[in-house]
Amino acid sequence: MTAERLAYAKPLPTITREGAPFWEATREKRLVSQYCPDCDQHQFPPRRLCMHCGGRNVGWRTISGKGRIYSFTVVHRPPNPSFAPDVPYVVAVIDLAEGGRMMTNIVECPPTEVRVDMPVIALYEQVTEEVTLVKFRPDRG
Ligand SMILES: [Zn+2]
Repeated sequence: MTAERLAYAKPLPTITREGAPFWEATREKRLVSQYCPDCDQHQFPPRRLCMHCGGRNVGWRTISGKGRIYSFTVVHRPPNPSFAPDVPYVVAVIDLAEGGRMMTNIVECPPTEVRVDMPVIALYEQVTEEVTLVKFRPDRG
């Protein structure tokens, strides 16, 4: 373990072979999702086959990082002590502009102001050498 990894106390994602391109992109502060050229649709989270047409040609594409809040909840009771300084915080599901849904946190916005269908945009939070998390903030632009 590096010192940096010790400094980050929250659970870290497991980087699988299928998900590795996503984490490589977030380290470069880019958001990617899978794209199927056979039916011209995006999907997220990643799967081996296209969820729309069953095609096998899914690859990765950089997307806008824009979306809208599909659903959210405000967490008041931390799931473990490392989250205690953050409560209350927002866990949300985002409808990505290109298609697909992503679970994330809404930041830079008081939880009482978060609304369904609110436009949001991705931001990046590097927490270890390997892991840069994607969170979203209101898109006021
Ligand atoms: Zn397809």
